[in-house]
Amino acid sequence: MSWFKREKPTAEKLPKLEDSERTVRTEGLWQKCESCRQIIWKKDLESNWNVCPRCGNHSRIDAVTRLRLLFDDAVYEQYDATLRSSDPLQFVDSKPYGERLRAMEQATSLTDALISAGGRLDGRWVFICSMEPKFIGGSMGSVVGEKIARSIDRALARKAPLLIVSASGGARMQEGAVSLMQMAKISAGLMKLDQAGLPYISILTDPTTGGVTASYAMLGDLNIAEPGALIGFAGPRVIEQTIRQKLPEGFQRAEFLLKHGMLDAVVPRLELKPYVSRALKFFAG
Ligand SMILES: [Zn+2]
Repeated sequence: MSWFKREKPTAEKLPKLEDSERTVRTEGLWQKCESCRQIIWKKDLESNWNVCPRCGNHSRIDAVTRLRLLFDDAVYEQYDATLRSSDPLQFVDSKPYGERLRAMEQATSLTDALISAGGRLDGRWVFICSMEPKFIGGSMGSVVGEKIARSIDRALARKAPLLIVSASGGARMQEGAVSLMQMAKISAGLMKLDQAGLPYISILTDPTTGGVTASYAMLGDLNIAEPGALIGFAGPRVIEQTIRQKLPEGFQRAEFLLKHGMLDAVVPRLELKPYVSRALKFFAG
């Protein structure tokens, strides 16, 4: 006979953590790598520019981080930061386009899907257009087109090289034909750079698809991509349905494209700056 009943602590008797408390305690400290599934301390990942220290998988980085990676001491000037789309079609899908733009602006602190910047890369002045994949999928509309066109004009005036870092789902549907016109507008501008003998390097990151692939992303004097980046025009499902064939393994990934002559190089993010610097030295002396 026992003098007291020893009660096993049951789940109900333990102080219960509210879901919100749980999130507060763990949120943001650890992250699971999408590729090797290892749990990584988020700070380790960030200090490695979002490249997994275990397996080398490249997670996406935002437009600002990209500029900090490429410019000396992360110092750069920003241009046309207040350009906004006028919503030329007064487009409405699941919500009005104007409303969508305002929400995106709040979420990303950007007015559209591209940052236009200028600064020094290993001491050499360059202009860099960096796309933001979080802003309506990094889609290319009138503002992206205009910012790149102005960047080309600046490069011509200063006789400086141009880099465009693509991260985009393609043309912005909410601007219809206006967004498609940007492909021609930018391509014509890049022709002027070519005639002036100024280098243009295209850096394709995950993902680069649709109208962006079909225009400026593939028009570089050098087209280089990050490892594992999805690059293509139409999605694999659409292609499979059209050609009625199963697509090969790794189709539309950077390495596959390099093997088939669509790219000049696949360069890991941590080697990107020295690689670009060497290339510019080769092109521009
Ligand atoms: Zn990993």
